[in-house]
Formats: sequence, structure tokens, C-alpha cells
Amino acid sequence: MPDEGILLVVSGFSGAGKGTITKAICSRYDNYALSISATTRKPRVGEVEGEHYFFRSKEEFEEMIRNDALIEYACYEGNYYGTPKDYVMKKLSEGCDVILEIEVQGAQKVHEKFPDTPMVFVTAPTAEILAGRLRGRGTENEEQIRGRLRRATEEAEFMGDYDYILINDTVDETVESLHDIFRVEHMKVKRNSRFMDEMKRGLGHLS
Ligand code: 5GP
Repeated sequence: MPDEGILLVVSGFSGAGKGTITKAICSRYDNYALSISATTRKPRVGEVEGEHYFFRSKEEFEEMIRNDALIEYACYEGNYYGTPKDYVMKKLSEGCDVILEIEVQGAQKVHEKFPDTPMVFVTAPTAEILAGRLRGRGTENEEQIRGRLRRATEEAEFMGDYDYILINDTVDETVESLHDIFRVEHMKVKRNSRFMDEMKRGLGHLS
């Protein structure tokens, strides 16, 4: 049976590039799985049901809450977002490292439930670059962009609660840094109890 994978949270400012990074690490390496969230927000142009999100009505989402089908959920800019439990648990038990790309309130809930979860915060190198990236992607109007920047100001207060800060200058480097975080996390003593037990047993046989 494979060792259980690592559950890791990635949060960050809207426009910091966390979506690009989490998708890129999954296509570059085999062992990662990206959780697909449910949301009540409307699909953006090009977003595909079951690939980017599970798009649900408010009623359907509230039923998932009642059925305890979500690891966590939060309200962001007037919409629900939540992490369906089944897929994450299945992938972890198969030995995959699972990434939750979620906002700060949801991240806090995951941390309360699973305190060993590494928490990673992705940011652009400067506030100006962040604003430029948000405008450049052309998916929100100016009012929505202002809303996201206001939200970023609030989220900045939570950066200190995270374990790692990833300053996303180039995607390639940031993907490698995230991969390094997983490598280090895999080396932690608390994640290697099975190995240590086997080592002790092996030594016991030899001595
Ligand atoms: P967007 O509308 O730009 O796709 O996402 C808005 C915010 O919701 C982002 O910060 C994203 O990380 C967050 N988000 C996406 N899925 C989830 C989820 O399942 N739970 C929580 N708490 N936040 C999520």
C-alpha cells in the first residue's frame, strides 16, 4: 500500500498566478493532484464544468454543506466556494500529493481540521505588478478589479499565518519552488514513521 500523500494548501492574491502554478506543477510532475472545487459563481469564458470547477446552484451547494460533503467552504465576493471531500481523500489514499487552491478563510478551516497541512501563500513581487496582472488577464471589469485589490489588502493580513511565501516572478521558478516545498515536507520525521519502524525492525534482525 502506498504511503498517504500530502495535503497542501495554496492561497494567494487574485492575479498572483496561483492557478497557473498549480496547474503547471500537475502537468510537469506525475504525483500531484489538484482538487476541483465546487462554486456557485458563474463560469468564466472558457471554463469547463468538472475541469475548472463544479458549477452549482446555491441550493445544490447548501445541500453539499448539509451532507457534510465538503472539507471546507467559504463565501468569497458573494459566492460559495468549497472543497468536495471524496476526491481529495481518494487521491491522498492512493499516495498522491493533493493541492487545495483556496482562499484564506477556507485555508484556516483546513488548518484547524488538519494541522499538519503545509500552508503556502502565493504573491506577485510587488503590489503594482499584481494590479497589472489582474488588468492584463481581462476577465474582470474595473469595478471587479478594484474589489479584488481591496480583498487582497484584507488577505495580506493573513500572510503571516502561512508556512511558506512564494513570490511568483516567473512561473517556471515558482513551480520548482513549490515542488521543493513538497520534497522538504516529505522528509519531515513525522511523515516517515513507517520508514523508521522498518529501519528499526531491519536493524533488530541484524544485531
Ligand atoms: P475565482 O473566482 O477567481 O476562481 O476564485 C476566487 C477565490 O476562491 C480564489 O482565491 C480561489 O483560490 C478561491 N477558491 C477556489 N476554490 C475554493 C474552495 O474550494 N474553497 C475556498 N475556501 N476557496 C476557494
